[in-house]
Amino acid sequence: MRVAFLGLGIMGQRMATNLVKAGHDVSVWNRTPKQLEGARVGATPAEAAQGAEVVWMCVTDSAAVEQVLFGPSGVESVLAAGMVVVDSSTISPSSTMRFAKKVRASGADYVDAPVTGSKVAAADGTLIFIVGATEERMAQLNPLFDAMGKTAVRMGDTGKGHAAKLAMNLQIALIYEGFAEGLTLATKLGVEPDRLIELIQASMVRSGVVDYKAPFVLARDFTPNFPLRHMHKDINLMLEAAKEVRVKLPALEVVEEIYDVADEEGLGDLDYAATLELLEKWAGVEVKSAAK
Ligand code: NAP
Repeated sequence: MRVAFLGLGIMGQRMATNLVKAGHDVSVWNRTPKQLEGARVGATPAEAAQGAEVVWMCVTDSAAVEQVLFGPSGVESVLAAGMVVVDSSTISPSSTMRFAKKVRASGADYVDAPVTGSKVAAADGTLIFIVGATEERMAQLNPLFDAMGKTAVRMGDTGKGHAAKLAMNLQIALIYEGFAEGLTLATKLGVEPDRLIELIQASMVRSGVVDYKAPFVLARDFTPNFPLRHMHKDINLMLEAAKEVRVKLPALEVVEEIYDVADEEGLGDLDYAATLELLEKWAGVEVKSAAK
Protein backbone atom coordinates (compact mmCIF):
# COMPACT_ATOMS: atom_id res chain seq x y z
CA MET A 1 0.00 0.00 0.00
CA ARG A 2 1.10 3.61 -0.44
CA VAL A 3 1.71 4.86 3.09
CA ALA A 4 2.98 8.18 4.41
CA PHE A 5 4.49 7.86 7.90
CA LEU A 6 4.73 11.11 9.87
CA GLY A 7 6.84 11.19 13.05
CA LEU A 8 10.07 9.22 13.27
CA GLY A 9 10.66 9.22 17.04
CA ILE A 10 11.47 6.17 19.18
CA MET A 11 8.28 4.41 17.99
CA GLY A 12 7.64 5.88 14.54
CA GLN A 13 11.07 5.21 13.14
CA ARG A 14 10.80 1.51 14.03
CA MET A 15 7.20 1.22 12.84
CA ALA A 16 7.95 2.85 9.48
CA THR A 17 10.97 0.58 9.05
CA ASN A 18 8.69 -2.45 9.39
CA LEU A 19 6.34 -1.05 6.73
CA VAL A 20 9.29 -0.74 4.35
CA LYS A 21 10.45 -4.28 5.21
CA ALA A 22 6.95 -5.62 4.44
CA GLY A 23 7.21 -4.15 0.93
CA HIS A 24 4.89 -1.16 1.25
CA ASP A 25 5.55 2.00 -0.72
CA VAL A 26 6.53 4.38 2.10
CA SER A 27 7.18 8.10 2.27
CA VAL A 28 8.17 9.73 5.57
CA TRP A 29 8.35 13.09 7.25
CA ASN A 30 9.77 14.16 10.60
CA ARG A 31 9.79 17.66 12.11
CA THR A 32 13.56 17.45 12.60
CA PRO A 33 14.63 16.19 9.17
CA LYS A 34 15.45 12.47 9.18
CA GLN A 35 16.08 9.78 6.57
CA LEU A 36 14.65 6.27 6.61
CA GLU A 37 16.24 3.55 4.50
CA GLY A 38 13.97 2.45 1.65
CA ALA A 39 11.55 5.38 2.03
CA ARG A 40 11.11 8.69 0.22
CA VAL A 41 11.39 11.78 2.42
CA GLY A 42 8.87 14.61 2.15
CA ALA A 43 9.93 18.15 3.06
CA THR A 44 6.55 18.78 4.74
CA PRO A 45 3.68 16.62 6.06
CA ALA A 46 1.66 17.58 2.94
CA GLU A 47 4.47 16.60 0.58
CA ALA A 48 4.92 13.21 2.25
CA ALA A 49 1.15 12.59 2.33
CA GLN A 50 0.45 13.65 -1.27
CA GLY A 51 -1.14 10.71 -3.12
CA ALA A 52 -0.88 8.26 -0.18
CA GLU A 53 -3.71 5.80 0.49
CA VAL A 54 -2.95 5.87 4.20
CA VAL A 55 -1.33 8.61 6.28
CA TRP A 56 -0.02 7.22 9.56
CA MET A 57 1.05 9.49 12.45
CA CYS A 58 3.06 8.78 15.59
CA VAL A 59 3.99 12.05 17.31
CA THR A 60 4.12 13.26 20.90
CA ASP A 61 0.76 14.73 21.82
CA SER A 62 -2.50 16.41 20.70
CA ALA A 63 -0.73 19.68 19.82
CA ALA A 64 1.74 17.80 17.61
CA VAL A 65 -1.05 15.87 15.82
CA GLU A 66 -2.93 19.13 15.26
CA GLN A 67 0.21 20.73 13.83
CA VAL A 68 0.89 17.81 11.48
CA LEU A 69 -2.69 17.73 10.23
CA PHE A 70 -3.79 21.34 10.20
CA GLY A 71 -0.63 23.47 10.63
CA PRO A 72 1.22 25.17 7.78
CA SER A 73 1.95 22.58 5.04
CA GLY A 74 -0.14 20.12 7.03
CA VAL A 75 -1.85 17.00 5.68
CA GLU A 76 -5.17 18.87 5.39
CA SER A 77 -4.20 20.47 2.08
CA VAL A 78 -3.83 17.07 0.36
CA LEU A 79 -6.71 15.16 2.00
CA ALA A 80 -8.80 13.36 -0.60
CA ALA A 81 -11.79 11.05 -0.70
CA GLY A 82 -10.71 7.47 -0.02
CA MET A 83 -7.62 8.45 1.98
CA VAL A 84 -7.37 7.14 5.55
CA VAL A 85 -5.57 9.03 8.33
CA VAL A 86 -4.43 6.81 11.21
CA ASP A 87 -3.11 8.13 14.53
CA SER A 88 -0.83 5.97 16.70
CA SER A 89 0.15 8.83 19.01
CA THR A 90 -1.32 8.68 22.52
CA ILE A 91 -3.69 11.66 22.73
CA SER A 92 -7.06 12.42 24.30
CA PRO A 93 -10.28 10.84 23.00
CA SER A 94 -11.86 14.31 22.80
CA SER A 95 -9.05 15.69 20.56
CA THR A 96 -9.44 12.58 18.41
CA MET A 97 -13.13 13.28 17.91
CA ARG A 98 -12.34 16.88 16.92
CA PHE A 99 -9.61 15.89 14.44
CA ALA A 100 -11.76 13.10 12.95
CA LYS A 101 -14.62 15.51 12.26
CA LYS A 102 -12.35 17.96 10.44
CA VAL A 103 -10.62 15.23 8.40
CA ARG A 104 -13.94 13.64 7.41
CA ALA A 105 -15.18 16.96 6.08
CA SER A 106 -12.70 16.43 3.21
CA GLY A 107 -14.03 12.95 2.40
CA ALA A 108 -11.09 11.14 3.99
CA ASP A 109 -11.53 8.83 7.00
CA TYR A 110 -9.89 8.91 10.45
CA VAL A 111 -8.84 6.01 12.66
CA ASP A 112 -7.34 6.09 16.16
CA ALA A 113 -4.85 3.25 16.59
CA PRO A 114 -2.59 3.91 19.59
CA VAL A 115 -0.21 1.12 20.51
CA THR A 116 0.87 -0.84 23.53
CA GLY A 117 4.31 -2.38 23.61
CA SER A 118 7.47 -0.35 23.85
CA LYS A 119 10.40 0.32 21.54
CA VAL A 120 11.34 -3.36 21.52
CA ALA A 121 7.87 -4.36 20.26
CA ALA A 122 7.98 -1.51 17.73
CA ALA A 123 11.28 -2.85 16.39
CA ASP A 124 10.16 -6.51 16.42
CA GLY A 125 6.82 -5.77 14.77
CA THR A 126 4.96 -7.11 17.81
CA LEU A 127 2.98 -4.04 18.86
CA ILE A 128 -0.65 -4.33 19.87
CA PHE A 129 -2.88 -1.78 18.11
CA ILE A 130 -5.86 -0.50 20.10
CA VAL A 131 -8.28 0.62 17.45
CA GLY A 132 -11.24 2.95 17.07
CA ALA A 133 -12.68 2.23 13.60
CA THR A 134 -15.41 0.38 11.76
CA GLU A 135 -14.79 -3.31 11.05
CA GLU A 136 -14.57 -2.57 7.32
CA ARG A 137 -11.87 0.06 7.86
CA MET A 138 -9.92 -2.29 10.11
CA ALA A 139 -10.00 -4.99 7.45
CA GLN A 140 -8.61 -2.51 4.91
CA LEU A 141 -5.75 -1.59 7.29
CA ASN A 142 -4.92 -5.19 8.27
CA PRO A 143 -1.85 -5.53 6.01
CA LEU A 144 -0.35 -2.50 7.76
CA PHE A 145 -1.30 -3.65 11.27
CA ASP A 146 0.29 -7.02 10.37
CA ALA A 147 3.52 -5.37 9.24
CA MET A 148 3.95 -3.44 12.50
CA GLY A 149 2.18 -5.48 15.13
CA LYS A 150 1.15 -8.90 16.38
CA THR A 151 -2.49 -8.01 16.85
CA ALA A 152 -5.03 -5.23 16.39
CA VAL A 153 -7.97 -5.10 18.77
CA ARG A 154 -11.08 -3.15 17.83
CA MET A 155 -12.40 -1.24 20.87
CA GLY A 156 -15.31 0.44 19.07
CA ASP A 157 -15.74 3.44 16.81
CA THR A 158 -13.67 6.65 16.66
CA GLY A 159 -12.10 7.69 19.95
CA LYS A 160 -12.53 4.32 21.66
CA GLY A 161 -8.95 3.32 20.79
CA HIS A 162 -7.57 6.30 22.66
CA ALA A 163 -10.01 5.82 25.53
CA ALA A 164 -8.88 2.19 25.98
CA LYS A 165 -5.21 3.15 25.61
CA LEU A 166 -5.51 5.62 28.51
CA ALA A 167 -7.15 2.94 30.64
CA MET A 168 -4.24 0.61 29.84
CA ASN A 169 -1.52 3.15 30.67
CA LEU A 170 -3.31 4.08 33.89
CA GLN A 171 -2.76 0.51 35.05
CA ILE A 172 0.85 0.40 33.86
CA ALA A 173 1.63 3.58 35.82
CA LEU A 174 0.00 2.24 39.00
CA ILE A 175 1.49 -1.26 38.73
CA TYR A 176 4.99 0.14 38.22
CA GLU A 177 4.53 2.55 41.12
CA GLY A 178 3.50 -0.36 43.36
CA PHE A 179 6.52 -2.36 42.21
CA ALA A 180 8.91 0.57 42.81
CA GLU A 181 7.48 1.31 46.27
CA GLY A 182 7.60 -2.39 47.21
CA LEU A 183 11.24 -2.62 46.10
CA THR A 184 12.18 0.51 48.03
CA LEU A 185 10.54 -0.65 51.24
CA ALA A 186 11.98 -4.17 50.98
CA THR A 187 15.49 -2.84 50.30
CA LYS A 188 15.30 -0.49 53.29
CA LEU A 189 14.20 -3.45 55.42
CA GLY A 190 17.21 -5.45 54.23
CA VAL A 191 15.69 -7.73 51.57
CA GLU A 192 17.74 -8.20 48.37
CA PRO A 193 15.84 -6.84 45.34
CA ASP A 194 16.70 -9.94 43.25
CA ARG A 195 15.06 -12.17 45.90
CA LEU A 196 11.96 -9.97 46.09
CA ILE A 197 11.56 -10.01 42.30
CA GLU A 198 11.94 -13.81 42.25
CA LEU A 199 9.20 -14.04 44.88
CA ILE A 200 6.90 -11.58 43.05
CA GLN A 201 7.19 -13.49 39.80
CA ALA A 202 6.50 -16.85 41.48
CA SER A 203 3.36 -15.49 43.14
CA MET A 204 -0.03 -14.04 42.22
CA VAL A 205 1.55 -10.56 42.32
CA ARG A 206 3.32 -11.39 39.05
CA SER A 207 2.75 -9.01 36.16
CA GLY A 208 3.89 -8.36 32.62
CA VAL A 209 4.98 -4.89 33.72
CA VAL A 210 7.38 -6.43 36.25
CA ASP A 211 8.52 -9.04 33.68
CA TYR A 212 9.50 -6.23 31.35
CA LYS A 213 10.85 -3.67 33.80
CA ALA A 214 12.67 -5.77 36.43
CA PRO A 215 15.79 -6.50 34.30
CA PHE A 216 16.17 -2.79 33.48
CA VAL A 217 15.72 -1.84 37.14
CA LEU A 218 18.26 -4.43 38.36
CA ALA A 219 20.74 -3.21 35.73
CA ARG A 220 19.84 0.40 36.69
CA ASP A 221 19.35 1.07 32.99
CA PHE A 222 16.92 3.98 32.70
CA THR A 223 17.59 4.84 29.06
CA PRO A 224 14.14 5.59 27.66
CA ASN A 225 11.95 2.79 26.33
CA PHE A 226 8.98 4.96 27.21
CA PRO A 227 10.13 8.40 28.33
CA LEU A 228 8.94 9.53 31.76
CA ARG A 229 7.67 12.83 30.32
CA HIS A 230 5.40 10.86 27.94
CA MET A 231 3.94 8.80 30.79
CA HIS A 232 3.42 12.08 32.66
CA LYS A 233 1.64 13.48 29.58
CA ASP A 234 -0.56 10.34 29.49
CA ILE A 235 -1.39 10.62 33.21
CA ASN A 236 -2.56 14.18 32.63
CA LEU A 237 -4.68 12.97 29.67
CA MET A 238 -6.28 10.34 31.93
CA LEU A 239 -7.06 12.91 34.62
CA GLU A 240 -8.52 15.33 32.03
CA ALA A 241 -10.65 12.59 30.44
CA ALA A 242 -11.82 11.51 33.91
CA LYS A 243 -12.79 15.08 34.76
CA GLU A 244 -14.80 15.40 31.54
CA VAL A 245 -16.93 12.38 32.51
CA ARG A 246 -16.88 13.05 36.28
CA VAL A 247 -14.84 10.02 37.32
CA LYS A 248 -12.54 10.20 40.36
CA LEU A 249 -9.07 8.60 40.15
CA PRO A 250 -7.56 9.17 43.60
CA ALA A 251 -4.55 6.83 43.30
CA LEU A 252 -3.63 8.32 39.93
CA GLU A 253 -3.80 11.84 41.36
CA VAL A 254 -1.12 10.91 43.89
CA VAL A 255 1.04 9.24 41.24
CA GLU A 256 0.73 12.37 39.08
CA GLU A 257 2.38 14.36 41.89
CA ILE A 258 5.32 11.94 41.84
CA TYR A 259 5.71 12.43 38.06
CA ASP A 260 5.49 16.18 38.58
CA VAL A 261 8.43 16.12 40.98
CA ALA A 262 10.34 13.66 38.76
CA ASP A 263 9.92 15.99 35.76
CA GLU A 264 10.99 19.00 37.85
CA GLU A 265 14.07 17.11 39.01
CA GLY A 266 15.13 16.57 35.39
CA LEU A 267 14.23 12.87 35.05
CA GLY A 268 11.77 13.50 32.17
CA ASP A 269 13.99 12.20 29.37
CA LEU A 270 14.76 8.95 31.22
CA ASP A 271 12.46 5.94 31.15
CA TYR A 272 9.44 6.21 33.47
CA ALA A 273 11.08 3.43 35.53
CA ALA A 274 13.35 6.21 36.84
CA THR A 275 10.54 7.36 39.17
CA LEU A 276 12.21 4.74 41.42
CA GLU A 277 15.10 7.18 41.86
CA LEU A 278 12.83 9.63 43.68
CA LEU A 279 11.57 6.97 46.08
CA GLU A 280 15.17 5.92 46.73
CA LYS A 281 16.17 9.51 47.43
CA TRP A 282 13.30 9.99 49.88
CA ALA A 283 14.12 6.67 51.59
CA GLY A 284 17.90 7.17 51.59
CA VAL A 285 18.47 3.79 49.97
CA GLU A 286 19.49 2.38 46.57
CA VAL A 287 17.82 -0.67 45.01
CA LYS A 288 20.86 -2.63 43.82
CA SER A 289 21.15 -6.08 42.38
CA ALA A 290 23.39 -8.38 44.43
CA ALA A 291 24.91 -9.38 41.07
CA LYS A 292 26.17 -5.82 40.43
P1 NAP B 1 9.54 10.49 20.79
O1 NAP B 1 10.69 9.58 20.55
O2 NAP B 1 9.69 11.60 21.76
O3 NAP B 1 9.08 11.06 19.37
C1 NAP B 1 8.13 12.07 19.27
C2 NAP B 1 7.92 12.40 17.80
O4 NAP B 1 6.93 13.46 17.70
C3 NAP B 1 9.17 12.91 17.08
O5 NAP B 1 9.15 12.46 15.76
C4 NAP B 1 8.97 14.44 17.17
O6 NAP B 1 9.69 15.14 16.19
C5 NAP B 1 7.49 14.52 16.93
N1 NAP B 1 6.91 15.80 17.35
C6 NAP B 1 6.85 16.31 18.61
N2 NAP B 1 6.23 17.51 18.61
C7 NAP B 1 5.90 17.76 17.33
C8 NAP B 1 5.23 18.84 16.68
N3 NAP B 1 4.76 19.90 17.37
N4 NAP B 1 5.03 18.76 15.35
C9 NAP B 1 5.47 17.69 14.65
N5 NAP B 1 6.12 16.64 15.20
C10 NAP B 1 6.33 16.68 16.52
O7 NAP B 1 8.25 9.69 21.27
P2 NAP B 1 7.82 8.16 21.07
O8 NAP B 1 8.29 7.36 22.24
O9 NAP B 1 8.12 7.72 19.69
O10 NAP B 1 6.23 8.33 21.26
C11 NAP B 1 5.38 8.79 20.22
C12 NAP B 1 3.95 8.61 20.68
O11 NAP B 1 3.70 7.21 20.92
C13 NAP B 1 3.61 9.35 21.98
O12 NAP B 1 2.30 9.84 21.94
C14 NAP B 1 3.74 8.24 23.03
O13 NAP B 1 2.96 8.51 24.18
C15 NAP B 1 3.25 7.04 22.26
N6 NAP B 1 3.74 5.73 22.75
C16 NAP B 1 5.06 5.57 23.05
C17 NAP B 1 5.49 4.32 23.52
C18 NAP B 1 6.92 4.08 23.91
O14 NAP B 1 7.17 3.05 24.58
N7 NAP B 1 7.88 4.90 23.55
C19 NAP B 1 4.58 3.26 23.65
C20 NAP B 1 3.26 3.46 23.30
C21 NAP B 1 2.85 4.71 22.85
P3 NAP B 1 11.23 15.61 16.48
O15 NAP B 1 12.08 14.44 16.12
O16 NAP B 1 11.39 16.79 15.58
O17 NAP B 1 11.29 15.99 17.94
